[in-house]
Amino acid sequence: MSTLRFKAIEKVESRPVIDVKLPSGRISDYYGTHVFDVATMREFLSSEAFRKVMAAIHTGEKIDRQVADQIASSMKAWAIDKGATHFTHWFQPLTGSTAEKHDSFFVPTEDGRGIEKFNGEALVQQEPDASSFPSGGLRATFEARGYTAWDPSSPAFIMEIGNGRTLCIPTIFVSYNGEALDYKAPLLKSMQVLEEAAVTVCRYFDRNVEHVSPTLGWEQEYFLVDEALFHARPDLVLTGRTVLGHAPAKGQQLEDHYFGSIHERVYRFMMELECEAYKLGIPLRTRHNEVAPGQYECAPTFEEVNLAVDHNQLLMDLMDRIARRHNMRVLLHEKPFARINGSGKHNNWSLQTDRGKNLLSPGKTPKTNLQFLTFFVTTIRAVAEHGDLLRASIASAGNDHRLGANEAPPAIISVFIGSHLQGVLDEVEKRVSKGSFDEMDKGELKMDIHNRIPDLLLDNTDRNRTSPFAFTGNKFEIRAVGSASNCASPMIVMNTIVARQLRDFHERVEALIEGGDKKDMAILKVLEQYIRESRKVLFEGDNYSAEWAEEAARRGLSNIKSTPGALDAYVRKESIALFEEMGVYSAKEMHARHEIQLENYAKRIQIEARVIGDLALNHILPAAISYQNRLASNVKSLRDSGLEEKLWQAQAELLLDISTRIQEIKKLIDEMVEERKKANKMKDAREKAIAYCEAIKPYFDRIRYHVDKLEQVVDDELWPLPKYRELLFMK
Ligand code: ADP
Ligand code: MG
Repeated sequence: MSTLRFKAIEKVESRPVIDVKLPSGRISDYYGTHVFDVATMREFLSSEAFRKVMAAIHTGEKIDRQVADQIASSMKAWAIDKGATHFTHWFQPLTGSTAEKHDSFFVPTEDGRGIEKFNGEALVQQEPDASSFPSGGLRATFEARGYTAWDPSSPAFIMEIGNGRTLCIPTIFVSYNGEALDYKAPLLKSMQVLEEAAVTVCRYFDRNVEHVSPTLGWEQEYFLVDEALFHARPDLVLTGRTVLGHAPAKGQQLEDHYFGSIHERVYRFMMELECEAYKLGIPLRTRHNEVAPGQYECAPTFEEVNLAVDHNQLLMDLMDRIARRHNMRVLLHEKPFARINGSGKHNNWSLQTDRGKNLLSPGKTPKTNLQFLTFFVTTIRAVAEHGDLLRASIASAGNDHRLGANEAPPAIISVFIGSHLQGVLDEVEKRVSKGSFDEMDKGELKMDIHNRIPDLLLDNTDRNRTSPFAFTGNKFEIRAVGSASNCASPMIVMNTIVARQLRDFHERVEALIEGGDKKDMAILKVLEQYIRESRKVLFEGDNYSAEWAEEAARRGLSNIKSTPGALDAYVRKESIALFEEMGVYSAKEMHARHEIQLENYAKRIQIEARVIGDLALNHILPAAISYQNRLASNVKSLRDSGLEEKLWQAQAELLLDISTRIQEIKKLIDEMVEERKKANKMKDAREKAIAYCEAIKPYFDRIRYHVDKLEQVVDDELWPLPKYRELLFMK
């Protein structure tokens, strides 16, 4: 009997139920208790320090040394009071996860004792050794220094692991020369340019607006598997997905998992996750079963983008940690199981003013509805122009299994707005483009827009679940983001392209006003141009259909199915010019990111290729050969005993099938290894990534095909790996 698999199954069956002690009472009693949030700051800081921090948060004002010292000392007092012994600068390097290096508050003193210290300098800047983080050539080896710098706009928090408590300070991570080595630095820059551009445009409608920030509400999908089974699957351990495995007789076809009642083990995990998230001020709102068996989702109330990104990173970290406490593993990979839905992360994005107005929410007056339409159309125009950048921002080896691989959504970036808003845009285009459009028509059109828009709320139900980029009533929902990725990547692109488009909008409107048009007239004229120029990106139909792929090609929309191809958009001349102009990335930073991602892609495919080779040769073939031996001796003894052929024919056929597949698998693996040797000699990151994508990856499915066929015929007791039916249905 195959020991590993059956031992794992026994372990799952014999495990006692875990009982977690959760705080009783209302969530609001413990929500945010581990965060140095505004309320805490008000309590712990002097009024002058408090005012300075608020100014830093809201207007990016610099905090001077003296104030930083005061803040640090209050932060320390608070953290120590909460039981923290260490602090860390918490950052988001380009590995995709978070990084931390803990230092103790404690310093020894001459008298043989010690004290707890933490000053402004330690709060504001640290110098972790950057040499082991991806830098894409930004950090010459002789200059390994990198700096982390405090981001006051995201509050410090206390991370509790076992009995240990650490004060975590959200920071950006830059090289010695100031180039970004993380996601947060460019994200903050993109928010700033977006704010400037959006405020300028807002003032056409409301002179009092001073700040605009993008908001993000993410929805996180994930799988849970039992930890014992997880460990019996080297592919899950090493790559986060199953590279082999036959689909179970029952998958998701009965659609009985979605919104189904939550398994008790999973429920306990979710409750503990939520509790920890609440303490950290992550405003989780929903939890439910997803479409695939073993798949779940959670989502918070939306927040300002920077904070929402930090919270998502923090949550992914928490999920992993807490799942282990429950003898489970969380799989954040975009496609842990073939032929079963993968996981994504929907990024709901909008813009909000300091006066509390959601700019993508329909207004109450003709004026606010014109404002709504302005931001709505400008965003669509930005996506029509820069869809390739958005595609690049969500490209990863894992996400390739979703985008362009017959699973939602396709690699074609299009925008769904619903028939109602489509009608509004048609109307604007039709009326404004008429040569005779005058002041009177303008007044009428404004009223007409106003009258039509409130119905939008009813149209809300008209959801198109197949669209990668859908307007859902008061926000755009970017659905093609990978479940494992850092939300910042697409958010940086969104903020930047919309900022660029708003600038362009303002320039065009100003030019028309200078030419004698009244303001609203100018605005409507530019909107009409934008609507016309954005037509190609609007699509209301089934995004999974073959017809759409053809139609999209006719419209000139890209359909880039693989990561190396998608990433090219980052280093196109126009893209670099755009990011430089907006001050979000320098050319050097973009080239560096491009290279890091290509390298990351090649490495991931390389690891998968190795795992497939190892599993096939060390696990699958030995099992298949044992069974082959049994069949062979069985056929031989039946034949020797003089039985007619028809009585051992079935076994002989099985034997032939198994033997052929064994030969085939071995041959394909040898060929794949040869291709890998060739690719590994390549120096150029792009060339290498393409080789991994085009010459090596296609072997995966070919090898898998035979392995999965073997799984169906080899004696179940010999099969070495937990099967899908065991992994997907929680005990
Ligand atoms: P669903 O899409 O599942 O029907 P909702 O529309 O209520 O649910 O919200 C889904 C997600 O959209 C949530 O994460 C929520 O925080 C987010 N969201 C709602 N409004 C906004 C907004 N103005 N800006 C950004 N995200 C938002
Ligand atoms: Mg949604």
